Order: sequence, then C-alpha cells, then structure tokens
Amino acid sequence: MDDFLCPSCQNHIRVGDNIIFKVKNHRKQAALILLSPKIGNYSSIKHPSFETEHGEPLDFYCPVCNASLTSDIHKDLAHVILVEENGKLSDVYFSRIFGEHSTFKTDGDSVHVSGDDAGKFTYFKIGDKFRKYF
Ligand SMILES: [Zn+2]
Repeated sequence: MDDFLCPSCQNHIRVGDNIIFKVKNHRKQAALILLSPKIGNYSSIKHPSFETEHGEPLDFYCPVCNASLTSDIHKDLAHVILVEENGKLSDVYFSRIFGEHSTFKTDGDSVHVSGDDAGKFTYFKIGDKFRKYF
C-alpha cells in the first residue's frame, strides 16, 4: 500500500482508502476533504455543507499538524510525500484548484505527470526549483 505523509510533521495522512486533508475555501469555511491515494483519480469526498466552486483555489492543510501544504514551487500546487510499498520516497504535487486535474510525482530525477490540466504548469510557468526536472 502506498502511504502519504505530511512534509512538515511526517505523519500519515492516508487512512484506509483515503488521503485526509483539512481545507479552507475562499470564504474561510474549513472542512475535511478525502482524496483518492491513486494518482490520476480526482474523485473527492466532502460534507455537502462545504461549498466549493469549480476553479476555486482551496487551501490545503495537514489534518495532524495543521501546516499549510501549499508548495514552494508553485502557489497553485499542494505538496505531499508518497512512500511506495518498496520504501521509495517521492514528492507529489497536485493542483489545489477545485476541479483542476493535474498531478506531478517526482523522485528528484524524473517527473511523472498526470491529469488533463497538467499543461498549465509548463516549463516556463513553474519555478526554478521544479524546472530542473523537465
Ligand atoms: Zn503535518
């Protein structure tokens, strides 16, 4: 089973078949959201009282330590650590724009890109820290 860790506290944020995040919308409403641990599966589970609009940026936080998961390589990407079954560590970046499908997985040598909207983050729009992977 692939595990997912918070980059700040290194605690597990995958429980069962979900990765658990705390999120806030632009109205500062806070909620929990569950995402699939399968890269490329963009289904999400949330309570119906938490309203999100297509195209709205959500602020992602670790549910354990409350650290912001907004990545330092692009403000529209959130960052988690993937631990594969064989112990291999990768950084996973995914869009924090609700409804936008883009995920990047990198082990530091190469980047694996998933999602229909990943083209938004091109070589020229991304920061220097990530550019080296392209
Ligand atoms: Zn944490």
